[in-house]
Amino acid sequence: MSRSVLVTGGNRGIGLAIARELAAAGDAVAVTYRSGEPPEGLFGVRCDVTSAADVDAAFGKAEAEHGPVEVVVSNAGMTRDTLLAMMKEETFTEVLDANLTGAYRVVKRATRNMLRMRRGRIVLISSVTALSGSAGQTNYAASKAGLIGFARSLARELGSRGITVNVVAPGFVDTDMTAVLEDSRKEEIRRNIPLGRFASPQEVARVVRFLTSDDAAYITGAVIPVDGGLGMGH
Ligand code: NDP
Repeated sequence: MSRSVLVTGGNRGIGLAIARELAAAGDAVAVTYRSGEPPEGLFGVRCDVTSAADVDAAFGKAEAEHGPVEVVVSNAGMTRDTLLAMMKEETFTEVLDANLTGAYRVVKRATRNMLRMRRGRIVLISSVTALSGSAGQTNYAASKAGLIGFARSLARELGSRGITVNVVAPGFVDTDMTAVLEDSRKEEIRRNIPLGRFASPQEVARVVRFLTSDDAAYITGAVIPVDGGLGMGH
């Protein structure tokens, strides 16, 4: 049966790959996009996750089109890198607002109908950085680590209602977010990845699909690394 799915930040990168993967598996997928145009062949709803009103409107449109959202993937995220000594408070709070409070807004709105349906799948996209830390990314790493505590608390709140909450922690993935890295920095990173390469967005998307599938019915509160071994030992 086709499920109603909503993926935030689904217009490009990892979010788009997740949306296409779930659509190919037969789901009715809505993607949020903040700027530009919605991706071809997918139902797009404009939404900035820093606005609760935007999030509510996006869910309203997705539900009018596909029915109550059964699977939500909170993927929208951003970086504003700089060393702490140079980091203004607004640079810290801006990243927290998009990456962590944004996920709160999306997931809170999603659970409303999931609780009524007594089923649902919630997947949050964190990062290897959440656990390993990353110089120049105190704001980003704090936001991504926050998602883990958020997800695990929520997994405990919602388990009895048949709703699972899991986190995917990608390592380095070939998207616009990593395209800005200098070639020398990319080479240095590759040397530290046991599999010796960045992931494709599809490699993350397939793990998300698994976590939303019946095969993952007994997995909740998990943090699944998709990082080529970079974070081993967490
Ligand atoms: P991209 O920069 O390619 O895409 C980011 C997406 O998030 C875009 O769709 C963007 O929308 C959206 N977005 C950002 N801020 C907001 C906002 N305030 N409201 C709504 N949408 C927003 O990133 P990736 O695809 O690489 O990353 C996707 C997720 O995966 C992020 O959470 C990222 O932190 C995480 N991740 C990425 C890794 C990587 O190596 N690439 C590694 C680990 C985690 P718009 O197009 O309008 O800007």
